[in-house]
Amino acid sequence: MASTIGVLSLQGDVAEHCRSIEALGRRAIQIRYARQMDSVDGLIIPGGESTTIAKLTADNTDAIFDRIREFIDAGKPIYGTCMGSIFLAKEIEGSTQGRLAAMDIKVRRNAFGPQRFSFETTLNIPALGEEPFDAIFIRGPVILSAGEGVDVMARVDANIGRLGKTAGSLPDESALYDSYIVMARQNNLLVSSFHPELTDDLRVHNFFLQMVEGEAPSGVSSGANVVAHQNQQRHTANPMALSAV
Ligand code: GLN
Repeated sequence: MASTIGVLSLQGDVAEHCRSIEALGRRAIQIRYARQMDSVDGLIIPGGESTTIAKLTADNTDAIFDRIREFIDAGKPIYGTCMGSIFLAKEIEGSTQGRLAAMDIKVRRNAFGPQRFSFETTLNIPALGEEPFDAIFIRGPVILSAGEGVDVMARVDANIGRLGKTAGSLPDESALYDSYIVMARQNNLLVSSFHPELTDDLRVHNFFLQMVEGEAPSGVSSGANVVAHQNQQRHTANPMALSAV
């Protein structure tokens, strides 16, 4: 039977994820309450604003977040885009805001600067095939470091999106980072800093469906072969530099 995917609908761009899932011939349902989680095989946590969902974890009287934790512990797949990746992260740089703290990654919010520095670029994502992926970043986070069990799936060059635009307003970290992780997987958890639901390329959602339907085995790689597409010639991603932070 085709799987049913829940899209957490407390906050963020819900309709776009539902459309992507339906375009792949699966059922998508909007999740607002704990009891609805029983009828889904996988969950998407959309982009939005992580401080808003953090407040909901404190205020919400429904047990939705407890139920999501149980879902994770049971090994059921969750895909977090942008805010969703922040909400899943064990660590958020400089913040103790409410989160699920399920995935062994450290994220930096708004890593490319404010909304007006949102940008689009092509990424090399080997797990999705050779064709580069058109990725849209909207005030997105990056993953600064990832634990051993995390499979790095894509990176961007450390200067992308802000080079020459925000000089002085963001720290110069060129000695620390060649690139930042922007897509990763740890067992049943998948995250991306960008928004595939805003494009017609369904490969990321399809990959997630394969996780849900048991067809995407996780192979832990160092990510050393996953470099920013546009900088393939000039940069080699340096996982050591990333884990040094
Ligand atoms: N900047 C947002 C945050 O920190 C995330 C933005 C997004 O999900 N598009 O929560």
